[in-house]
Amino acid sequence: MTSGMKLIIGASLLMLLLIAWSESALLRVAYGLFMVLIGGYLLTNLDALRRQMAGYQEQIDRVNLICDELDQNTKIIVQTDLELTRTQESLDKKIAGLYVLHELSREILAVRTVENLCRVVTEAVVTRLGFERSILCLVAADHPGRPRIAATSGFEPEEARKLNLSGLIEMVRNPVLNPGESLFFVPEEGQAPASRVGPAAGVRCFAVVPIALNNQPSGFLLTGNNPPYPRLETGDVELLSILASEVGVAAENLELYEALKRSHDELEERVKERTAELARANEELTRLNKMKSDFVSAVSHELRTPLTSIKGYASLVRAGKLGAVTKDQGERLEKIGRHTDYLSNLISDLLDIARIESGRVGMEIRKVDLARVADTVSDLLMPQLKEKNLTLKVEVPSKLPVLQADESRLQRVLINLLSNAIRFTPADGVITVSAAPGPEFLQINVIDTGLGIAPADLPKLFTEFFRADNPVNRERKGTGLGLTLVKRIVEAHGGKIWVNSVPGKGSTFSFTLPWQPPLKPAMGVP
Ligand code: ADP
Repeated sequence: MTSGMKLIIGASLLMLLLIAWSESALLRVAYGLFMVLIGGYLLTNLDALRRQMAGYQEQIDRVNLICDELDQNTKIIVQTDLELTRTQESLDKKIAGLYVLHELSREILAVRTVENLCRVVTEAVVTRLGFERSILCLVAADHPGRPRIAATSGFEPEEARKLNLSGLIEMVRNPVLNPGESLFFVPEEGQAPASRVGPAAGVRCFAVVPIALNNQPSGFLLTGNNPPYPRLETGDVELLSILASEVGVAAENLELYEALKRSHDELEERVKERTAELARANEELTRLNKMKSDFVSAVSHELRTPLTSIKGYASLVRAGKLGAVTKDQGERLEKIGRHTDYLSNLISDLLDIARIESGRVGMEIRKVDLARVADTVSDLLMPQLKEKNLTLKVEVPSKLPVLQADESRLQRVLINLLSNAIRFTPADGVITVSAAPGPEFLQINVIDTGLGIAPADLPKLFTEFFRADNPVNRERKGTGLGLTLVKRIVEAHGGKIWVNSVPGKGSTFSFTLPWQPPLKPAMGVP
């Protein structure tokens, strides 16, 4: 209602009151006129009033429309909120599942057999991922229809026993084992199971994911639920697929580890057998070697006595004590003397080697002055050195730590090495004996500037009776036992001997002696 109309209605009521009080006809006429005027005014304003009313209605409709929209929006918000809650729940479930998987992958690392791996995984699927039942089955590579290793969880023992795994393998062969895809089945309320897998595993809804070993589908992981367990969701398949791929990698590693361990065990067994065989062979060798040493020393002893008589008689005859000797006879007798010398040297070397090998003769270990031993040896060999005009240099440091050794045997080592050096060094050459002290050993070198040794002969050098084929050896007889004896003596002291040689330039024989030999000196065994 406009303010004009309100004014008119108010004025009309006032006029009515005035007329009611005054009974004047004039007033009533005036009132009549006034009412006519008002009627006219109202008639002219009725349209405006109607328009105003229509405006009000429009506004009311608009408000209604807005209310409807608001209603609609509220519904959408509620629906969105519901979906968000559902998404949040499934996200929470996924995060929880991934967390369990993370934990599980660490536990899987500690598992040592494929059987245990299958057991741990199926149990975790039920107890930690919250499914009702699970079956993990790996098929045999040569018989893909046959279960190789399997584990179940969530089944009563009787049910688990009755499970037909070969039948299940057959049911999931396509597409799980071939071509390696997942199976997922969640029936609606009242819907009959469309697959035989569910009834076979005793579950209403289920998922089967493939397990690949060496990129080849080689088994499956089945999980399933019955009400009141929740229905499986597609997110569950993703989670189970991650778990299945971890199982595949772990099973591959375990199989490799098992194969490696098997071959390691086999190897260890073979090494043990071989070691026992070698120990037996070594015992036998030691026994035979002792027999040989005993035999050599017995024979040598037997030979020595007649040889001494032969040498004695020959020199007696040669001296003319038993009558005159012709020149020719004298030469022959001289030959007999040389040959008996050679034989008696051979016998004494053989006896020495045999004694050291059998350990019959103990070492006389005492403080040794190396410089003095070297001087004695060089005095002994002076005639040979002079004969070829050879220079012998002795380079032994004046202050050496105390060396404990068997002096006469060390002397023998130096005599043998130096005699060879003299023999193989041409006239006017140089031979050096040097000593280099180390923290545990003293190293002694005998260096010559002679014929040298062919590389092919080096490995045979310290073996009994070896003599290289060269002009020097062809001209002069030898036993081939000198270096063998040297090696035995050095090793009996706990040292080592080796040689470096350049043919045509010379050879260096080096050996080490510990400052203090082992308490019970090791006797060399060839
Ligand atoms: P033998 O002196 O009776 O031949 P050895 O055992 O002392 O026996 O030596 C074995 C062989 O080693 C020698 O015949 C020789 O061929 C080789 N040999 C040893 N010492 C030297 C050396 N200093 N230079 C070259 N050859 C050597």
